[in-house]
Amino acid sequence: MPVFNIVIFGKPGSGKGTQADFLKDKYDLYHISTGDLFRKNILNKTDLGIEAKSFLDNGDLVPDIVTIKMLENEVLANKDVNGFIFDGFPRTYNQAESLDIFLESINQKINATIALEVNEDELITRLLDRAKITKRSDDQDIKKIKNRFNEYNNKTSILIDFYQKQSKFYSVNGHGSVDDITSRLFNLVDSLI
Ligand code: AMP
Repeated sequence: MPVFNIVIFGKPGSGKGTQADFLKDKYDLYHISTGDLFRKNILNKTDLGIEAKSFLDNGDLVPDIVTIKMLENEVLANKDVNGFIFDGFPRTYNQAESLDIFLESINQKINATIALEVNEDELITRLLDRAKITKRSDDQDIKKIKNRFNEYNNKTSILIDFYQKQSKFYSVNGHGSVDDITSRLFNLVDSLI
């Protein structure tokens, strides 16, 4: 199988992380979650973590310059893989453009961007439920959740158009059981590879 790079796209709580793990296993991809990378750095109190902490706590996006560098370093450290699944990146126009330029510089590209579509009422329920398990501060507070939706609507949703123009945008119904959603994703990716 040639290298296949996927962006998994969607609002907070849409199931990106869960489904990225299934896609990673099935297609032997390397999963990069920028949210997880930030949380790991915060836990380890690295300089990057200290810089990112207040943004995550408030549900704001971390500045592009910090996020893009972190992402590029993670890709370069794991170059010999069958492909990447980017989860939570890109989230701004600048990040999407930078990702294209960066991937081109290493002779790669995004093959597909797949959005998980879930309505906001369902997402709020899911995030508040997840907060009970993960204790993530940005999942516990409805104001922070709404701020994350605003960040998505103001800065991230424009990427639908960005990837549609490249004929790489696919949308999947993110409602229903985890298994049903996984099947929809597998069917889609099988049809693209
Ligand atoms: P997530 O785990 O994907 O929901 O991300 C949690 C938080 O990490 C977000 O609310 C942002 O503060 C930060 N974050 C994750 N990915 C990005 C990104 N691509 N750009 C900026 N901030 C990000």
